[in-house]
Amino acid sequence: MQKTYRGSCHCGKVQFEADIDLSAGTGKCNCSICTKARHWGTSIKPDAFRLLSGEADLSDYQFNSNSVHHLFCRHCGIRPFGRGYIEEIGGHFVSINLGALDDVGPAELIAAPVQYFDGRHNHWERTPEETRHL
Ligand SMILES: [Zn+2]
Repeated sequence: MQKTYRGSCHCGKVQFEADIDLSAGTGKCNCSICTKARHWGTSIKPDAFRLLSGEADLSDYQFNSNSVHHLFCRHCGIRPFGRGYIEEIGGHFVSINLGALDDVGPAELIAAPVQYFDGRHNHWERTPEETRHL
């Protein structure tokens, strides 16, 4: 079921709203940046995302193919969401950090299916051999 959630960084300068259907799946990945950030997220279309405040408080980080803007709050360092364009997954997307959602309960997160991606080996379509540490 799609719901509208509120999210923010830690200091509160960055505030957003996102329409998410958690039952449609969430993702964890073993790539270098997801590992270091302990990222657990879900991707939505840009029109399901509304930044309410903090555009000027975001810093951008890109690497490799530069297909994703790994945004973070320049005051508190939290990464509430990212923006990207990857043709293979349907073009423009916003990647939501589930940890940044303020009004999601543990029960909703527990019930959300998790899909694992082998980004470390550039096989995003594949599940890594080991996922327990992700
Ligand atoms: Zn912040």
